[in-house]
Amino acid sequence: MDIVSLRGRVESLIHAHSQGYVPDILKSGFSCARCGWCCRENFSIRITKDILRPSNAISIFPDDVRRIMKGTGMKWDDVVQPDIYSCLSDGDSIYAIGWILRRNDAGECIFYSGGACTVYEFRPMICRCYPFFMGERGVEVMHCEGLGNRIVKERAVEMAVMLKRYEMKKLRSYISIMAQLGDKLSFANLRMLPRGYEGDVFVCDGEAVHVRRL
Ligand code: SF4
Ligand code: SF4
Repeated sequence: MDIVSLRGRVESLIHAHSQGYVPDILKSGFSCARCGWCCRENFSIRITKDILRPSNAISIFPDDVRRIMKGTGMKWDDVVQPDIYSCLSDGDSIYAIGWILRRNDAGECIFYSGGACTVYEFRPMICRCYPFFMGERGVEVMHCEGLGNRIVKERAVEMAVMLKRYEMKKLRSYISIMAQLGDKLSFANLRMLPRGYEGDVFVCDGEAVHVRRL
């Protein structure tokens, strides 16, 4: 995916009406059972031969981090860590593509406690959209324990609006990150950091480049 085609997707999304996603959302019968399945590590996804990504390695935007910080009083690095499953090297330095929510030793999101999300009102956009995401053919539905129930139309409309907003923000974020990385970005070179890696990582999140020592 290059910047031109990402811009094309943003352009077509601008003209798409979120109402068009409502029928698929209604059909799913989604009603969150607050089971926490999506907050825990259930499996890993083989992204490339070099990247095995936990199911709940959740990428979030800087705006999400700031909202959680404001709501909880936590510091940036207590909320997120560099996305260690999405890194590349130019031979001199390691670059991480954005941030992921911190997880505890059991592999759960650190905000999952007592069977619930403790930052529910501040939770990231991606969590607000789950289990829906925009695929090549439109709305797709991920595994979720809350499907097949009844969803009221107003709720489906809200989710459709959020889904469009999230997708636009994600695409624009990709464009900014690609611009930050320039020639260094090659998806073929993406790697996860080796376990026990120690050193600096430059985190490109679309807004700024932050250096973190791991
Ligand atoms: S979105 Fe689905 S999987 Fe996640 S907590 Fe709600 S019901 Fe469970
Ligand atoms: S922020 Fe909340 S909803 Fe999102 S993964 Fe963590 S516990 Fe789950």
